[in-house]
Amino acid sequence: MSLDLKKEKRSLETFRVSPEWRRVRRDFLKLYPRCEACGGKQRLEAHHIIPVHLKPSLELDVNNLITLCELHSHHLTFGHKMSYRSWNRTVREDAKNYRESVKTRPKPWELEEETNDLG
Ligand SMILES: [Zn+2]
Ligand SMILES: [Zn+2]
Repeated sequence: MSLDLKKEKRSLETFRVSPEWRRVRRDFLKLYPRCEACGGKQRLEAHHIIPVHLKPSLELDVNNLITLCELHSHHLTFGHKMSYRSWNRTVREDAKNYRESVKTRPKPWELEEETNDLG
């Protein structure tokens, strides 16, 4: 991640952090210990669907949280549409659809079969 992106993330993601956030985040990640986009378990973040700087009242609302990983940039991609200044109201749906599409991704030998089908 570039320095600018890091700075942008820090200023927007941690706009306001209440003392309870650390506990809520830890408990949430214990309850949902997998990235919703890839199922991965490394470098997870409890992402706020509606950003805290827009709706401070939703900071500790678990219905406003979703687990996404930093390892594959799924937090940035699905949670923030590639910009920490933005957000994604359909992140649950998008992450789920992506995960399904990964499950059914083509195998290396499948294209050959498809080509044969085309004659
Ligand atoms: Zn992921
Ligand atoms: Zn986020």
